Amino acid sequence: MCHALLQDIKFFQLLVRIDEEFAQQTRAGGCACGGALHQANYPRKPRGCPSEVRADFEQRLSFCCSECRKRTTCMSVRFLGRRVYLGLAVVLMSARLTQSSAITTRLSQSLGVSLRTLQRWRQWWQLQFPLTGLWQAMCARFMPPVQTQFLPSSLMQRFGERNAQPMTRLLVFLSPITITPFSTQRAGR
Ligand SMILES: [Zn+2]
Repeated sequence: MCHALLQDIKFFQLLVRIDEEFAQQTRAGGCACGGALHQANYPRKPRGCPSEVRADFEQRLSFCCSECRKRTTCMSVRFLGRRVYLGLAVVLMSARLTQSSAITTRLSQSLGVSLRTLQRWRQWWQLQFPLTGLWQAMCARFMPPVQTQFLPSSLMQRFGERNAQPMTRLLVFLSPITITPFSTQRAGR
């Protein structure tokens, strides 16, 4: 087993509640055009999710404007972008990846995640995440600087131990990245 949190039903339920709060805030904000937001969730087929809470993880909360039809998708602590694996799994599993391809291969086998997927996550953390609007805006707050070549482990260490509270704070910290404009890379990198 990768990590106890990946089996912690209460923790998964907490993530659902946080996403529901994000959704309430999004709906209260309304659309930029002044129209009302109507629920229009995206269906998801999540991996890395205990079967007991799976039903609560089969939708990414999103809204559609009643006037201009524009989409507004909520920030999320459950999903990190469009990946099928939950954000929690992406963070915890990525943190165990190292430079060693032998270890990565073993991890891939023991976690049941394809080698290509693990390598993609690793590349995202090390090459793309540091260029996101979120990280560009927030990285200066960490002193000494977070070593990006060791992401996400180096960031997790700043939030504390790998149990529920620090992990919740980290997922909330990362949540803006799940919506534009924070997810986009800065021009002229
Ligand atoms: Zn609108």
